[in-house]
Amino acid sequence: MDDRLFRNAMGKFATGVTVITTELDGEAHGMTANAFMSVSLNPKLVVISIGERAKMLEKIKESGKFAVNILAAEQQEVSMLFAGQLKEKREAEFGRIKDMPVIKEALANIVCNVHSTQVAGDHTLFIGEVQEIVLREGTPLTFFEGKYGQLAEEQLV
Ligand code: FAD
Ligand code: NAD
Repeated sequence: MDDRLFRNAMGKFATGVTVITTELDGEAHGMTANAFMSVSLNPKLVVISIGERAKMLEKIKESGKFAVNILAAEQQEVSMLFAGQLKEKREAEFGRIKDMPVIKEALANIVCNVHSTQVAGDHTLFIGEVQEIVLREGTPLTFFEGKYGQLAEEQLV
């Protein structure tokens, strides 16, 4: 099957946008991801999917922990920074929760320890056991058909 057909089909599934963060040897690393799902309430588990070529893959394997930061509508630039979509180099500023780097002003910071991993084709699924959650009010950044967006006013009632 053609890759573009697959990506176009997956792009019909509108999602929020997250930045996955972790820290290794005192260095914070972030990566934009929309492959994120809630898995289990008891215990509290979530899953992320990281491509085999992403630097994030080895970093999470080694650190054994990650945070999922759900971006607010105003944070498209943050998403672009951590997806390598900005032309210029930028310093990233991180907050800290439970000794982990997190994205400030995100709608949710969800700090996890790796519970288990599953290699699936050219991605690795990391199931995370949730350790800490911080929430903020706001509306989400969205991703649909390969484009960023936000919810229309009438969708917010
Ligand atoms: P890099 O490409 O090195 O880092 C990513 C960017 O973040 C670089 O520009 C880097 O400068 C910056 N950065 C990282 N840490 C810091 C820091 N400490 N200070 C300053 N800048 C920093 N890929 C997946 O595998 N799974 C997904 O679910 C997924 N979803 C995506 C959803 C969207 C909407 C988009 C746009 C992309 C998605 N990607 C996903 C692709 C992924 O975001 C990119 O391939 C990304 O570049 C891979 O990051 P990396 O870990 O290889 O690190
Ligand atoms: P796109 O049209 O490539 O993405 C549409 C949808 O296709 C995404 O939401 C995702 O569900 C799926 N997808 C895209 N690339 C994939 C991959 N390598 N593996 C599994 N699923 C994938 O949108 P775009 O604006 O061209 O994306 C920007 C960049 O970010 C591209 O390089 C894309 O490959 C990457 N990306 C990767 C993933 C992922 O690895 N899960 C998800 C989204 C975007």
